[in-house]
Amino acid sequence: MTAASGGRRRKGMGHMSFNVAIDGPAGAGKSTIARAVAKKMNLIYVDTGAMYRAMTLLVLREGADLQDKEKIVGICRGAKITIRYEDGEQVVVLNGENVNGFLRTEEVGNLTSSVVSRIPEVRERMVKLQQELAACSDCIMDGRDIGTCVLPDARLKIYLTASSRVRAMRRYHELLDRGVESDPEKIQKDIEERDYQDMHREISPLRQAEDAVLVDTSEMSVEEVISVISQLCREAGAAP
Ligand code: C5P
Repeated sequence: MTAASGGRRRKGMGHMSFNVAIDGPAGAGKSTIARAVAKKMNLIYVDTGAMYRAMTLLVLREGADLQDKEKIVGICRGAKITIRYEDGEQVVVLNGENVNGFLRTEEVGNLTSSVVSRIPEVRERMVKLQQELAACSDCIMDGRDIGTCVLPDARLKIYLTASSRVRAMRRYHELLDRGVESDPEKIQKDIEERDYQDMHREISPLRQAEDAVLVDTSEMSVEEVISVISQLCREAGAAP
C-alpha cells in the first residue's frame, strides 16, 4: 500500500496523524466535498466506498451466484486490493489492475450495499487497510462507518446528509449533464433502499457518531458545504 503524493505523510514516530471522518448516506455529496476539502487542507482523500466496490466488481466478474455467501467470501478472501495515489487521486488496484473506471455503476453500487459490504470478513479486511492508511497519513476519509468504527479517535467527525428527494434530484441532474435520461422517482427509490440497507445491516450500520457534527446540505451549495467543512477542519487544528 502506498499513500505517496497528494497529502502530508506521517513525519516520525511521535507524529499523530490528523484524520477527518465523513460519513453519511448515498448521494449526500461526501466524495465531492471530501475531495475538495482534502485539496484545500492538504490532506489525502480516502474513498472507502471504492474499496468495497472493488470487491463487488470482482464478485461480478467471477459470475458468482449472489445467494452463495460462501463462494463470495472465498472470492473476496483471495482478492488482493491495494491503494495508491497518482497525482493526488486514489487508485484502487485489484489483483494488479487499476479498476477505478469500473466502480461507479449503479449495478456495482447496489450490489455492494445489498451483499458485499454486509460480509464480516470483507469489512474486517477493508477496515484494517483503512486504518493503516490513516495511521501513516493526514487524511480525510469518507464512508459509512468511519467515525463509528474505522477511526473512532478522528480529530473531526462529520455526518453529511440531505433529504432523499434532494439527493435524487442531484443525481438526476448529474446524469442529465452526461446526456443520460433517467427517472427521478426511481433514483429516489433506489437511494432510499440503499439507505435502509446501510442503516439496518447487522455489522457497522450507518449511523451518526455521538461526537460527529451534523451537516445537512439539502439547502446548501457545494461551495457553502466546502467552506463550512474547511472551517471545521481549521478549528480542529488542520494547518493547510
Ligand atoms: O460511498 P459509496 O456509494 O461508494 O459506497 C458504496 C457502498 O459501500 C455503500 O452503499 C455501503 O454499502 C458500502 N460502504 C460501507 N462502508 C464504507 C463505505 C461504503 O459499507 N465505509
